[in-house]
Amino acid sequence: ESFTDMCLHPSIMKDIEFHEYTRPTSIQAQAMPVALSGRDLLGCAETGSGKTAAFTIPMIQHCVAQTPVGRGDGPLALVLAPTRELAQQIEKEVGISYCVHERTYEIVLEIAVYSAVNYFQVKALSRSLDSFKTAIVVGGTNIAEQRSELRGGVSIVVATPGRFLDHLQQGNTSLSRVSFVVLDEADRMLDMGFEPQIREVMQNLPDKHQTLLFSATMPVEIEALAQEYLTDPVQVKV
Ligand code: AMP
Repeated sequence: ESFTDMCLHPSIMKDIEFHEYTRPTSIQAQAMPVALSGRDLLGCAETGSGKTAAFTIPMIQHCVAQTPVGRGDGPLALVLAPTRELAQQIEKEVGISYCVHERTYEIVLEIAVYSAVNYFQVKALSRSLDSFKTAIVVGGTNIAEQRSELRGGVSIVVATPGRFLDHLQQGNTSLSRVSFVVLDEADRMLDMGFEPQIREVMQNLPDKHQTLLFSATMPVEIEALAQEYLTDPVQVKV
């Protein structure tokens, strides 16, 4: 299995080249074709396996195919993660694939090649040039800034469950357009007491959505959650 066989959007392929990922890791080879096909997934994988890209790449591909998000719209994809640090890592991994417009991508990449700017500066730049935006919504950071970012319209939200629910309850964002959901490190989220918040989100999603659940361990609580919220999931394990 190679990335070229996965029929990825050209700008996502460029992103993969940019990251110098030559071949998929085991979890990516197993999970990506499933996620790209639109099916639900239950993935047993630990950090270090490449699991983040295993869901961020299909998530971006999914979002690229949707009507773009405008001001006041809720996100198309939602990633829930247990900690601020993990959410930040995931958002980094979403990378410069926001550049869905080829030309923007070319320009940004040229700037990156011919000047000494680093990857994160490129990302910031591409973000300001394009409407395909990502927001990190975590505790311990400025809620007013997050509010205006969310209200401005973002395609992807990477969040911790508590803070995301605060924004949802305050009407700063909505689940009405969410059609791709990732529960990352679900076992840790349950350990941290986020089960009520996860349930609140899962119960209020639009009928038509795809869910990917990743967990390092599969205790009965995770199996119950999967049973309840995943539809005919494909199970993968590394
Ligand atoms: P993760 O398990 O998602 O935390 O990823 C662990 C590390 O592997 C990260 O630094 C990724 O950038 C890197 N990585 C992910 N996929 C690949 C790949 N296909 N080839 C090489 N490195 C990768």
